[in-house]
Order: sequence, then C-alpha cells, then structure tokens
Amino acid sequence: MVDGYGVLQAFRRKAIALGAVFETADVRQVLCSAGRVAAVACADGRRFEADALLIAAGAWSAPLAAQLGFELPVRPRKRDVFVLASPAALPACPLVIDPSGVWFRPEGRGFIAGCPPRGEDVDDAPLEAIDHRLFEEVIWPALAPPRAGVRRALRATGAWAGYYEFNTFDQNGIVGQLPGCANAFVGCGFSGHGIQQAPAVARGPGRTDRARPP
Ligand SMILES: Cc1cc2nc3c(=O)[nH]c(=O)nc-3n(C[C@H](O)[C@H](O)[C@H](O)COP(=O)(O)OP(=O)(O)OC[C@H]3O[C@@H](n4cnc5c(N)ncnc54)[C@H](O)[C@@H]3O)c2cc1C
Repeated sequence: MVDGYGVLQAFRRKAIALGAVFETADVRQVLCSAGRVAAVACADGRRFEADALLIAAGAWSAPLAAQLGFELPVRPRKRDVFVLASPAALPACPLVIDPSGVWFRPEGRGFIAGCPPRGEDVDDAPLEAIDHRLFEEVIWPALAPPRAGVRRALRATGAWAGYYEFNTFDQNGIVGQLPGCANAFVGCGFSGHGIQQAPAVARGPGRTDRARPP
C-alpha cells in the first residue's frame, strides 16, 4: 500500500534534485503558433514559453485540451471516502473492490472505503455535500458480513471527498500526443486509479528523447 501524497513528494524532490523547476500557477490559455504550442498564459499574468506541453491537470484537463481543438472525455466526478475503525487485523490487505463497486483498503491504523454515488453522477458536485447514508446503506452492508475479517464492529469515524478525474468513455487513463499538435501531450483521466499508474505513464510514449528498445 502506498501513501499517495508521500510518493508525490518523493517524485517532486527527486525531480528538483535532477534540475526540474516547479512553478505554481493556474494555466488559463494555451498559445499556439504554426500548429505547435508556443506558450501558456496564467491567471496571475505570467507567461511560460514551451518546447512541449503535457496536459496533466487531472479532472480539469478537458478545458485545456479543448483550446487545442480536442475534446477529452474527462470530467470531475465527486467521490466520498469514509474513514473506518475496525478491530480487524488484516496484514498485507490489498485494495479490495467488490463487484458492486464498494472498495476498502488499509489506511493508517484503520481502513478507508467508498463506492460509486447513488443516483446521477453529476460533474463537479460540491465536495462538502458528503452522502453519509452511503456508508450506512451501501458500504456497511457490503463489508459487515465476515468478509476478509471485517466484522460488525466496523464503524465510520470520518469522511472526506475528492474528484475522480473520470474518463466517461472507458474509465481508463488517456496518454499520448494530441493528434495534429506535435508538441502537446496528455496524461489524464485515470478515473481514480492514477497513483498506481503515474510512474509508468511518466515513462511512456510521448517522450521523444528515449532510445527505442532494440
Ligand atoms: C477519493 C479518491 C480516492 C482515490 N483513491 C485512489 C487509490 O486508492 N489508488 C489510486 O491509484 N488512485 C486513487 N485516486 C486517484 C488518484 O488520486 C488520481 O488518479 C491521481 O491523483 C491523478 O493524478 P493526476 O496527476 O493525473 O491528477 P491530479 O493529482 O488531480 O493533479 C492534477 C494537478 O493539476 C492541477 N491543475 C488543474 N488545472 C490546472 C490548471 N489550469 N493550471 C495549472 N494546474 C492545474 C491541479 O491543481 C492538480 O494539482 C483517488 C482519487 C480520489 C478523488
């Protein structure tokens, strides 16, 4: 099991050690010249020239790709996560996903769990509107039977929500060069499993400086 934020920080520190420079800015406009991305303009007025552009803006990638004439099927879809306390000891328990979509995995001393929303899966629903009854009516009944040692002492101690960068076409990541724009690439739409794929995606097609294997 990985700590997603910890992994992100480790990659960030390594990139900085290798010479990468991180700037925090909200990209508003992608500027093109002769069929290539030339620069991006940011909300704070700054402009960054670009040899290449990688659109990896998670749930907010589609509006950027749209500026290059490409419609990405990636939308922000809210997912509630419940923090669970349970006396169950499940050494080496992996992420477990029920066929119904209910999932759980170890986190700290307990577990976290979630499932798809009930009803309409709307774009960009407010994060603070957590559906607490999801735990009582969907997740708890799925986990409370003696499955993998998780028993009736299971209770929710907290909840939070985030946006999946949801690929409405097939719920898989979209990776590669944008057709018709030689120096623009995308890496997004991982639909809630991006931490597992990010290291491979960063080494994948689109990098032009790597020698092809023999
Ligand atoms: C509730 C929840 C649970 C999850 N659980 C798991 C799990 O168990 N395992 C797993 O593998 N994955 C999980 N994920 C998915 C994982 O978090 C994502 O797949 C992963 O973060 C996607 O990485 P990313 O770099 O593509 O996008 P993000 O991590 O979303 O990063 C995109 C970045 O782009 C920035 N950005 C957006 N727009 C702009 C702009 N215009 N200009 C500049 N910057 C911009 C954003 O601020 C953000 O920092 C979960 C996600 C959620 C919401």
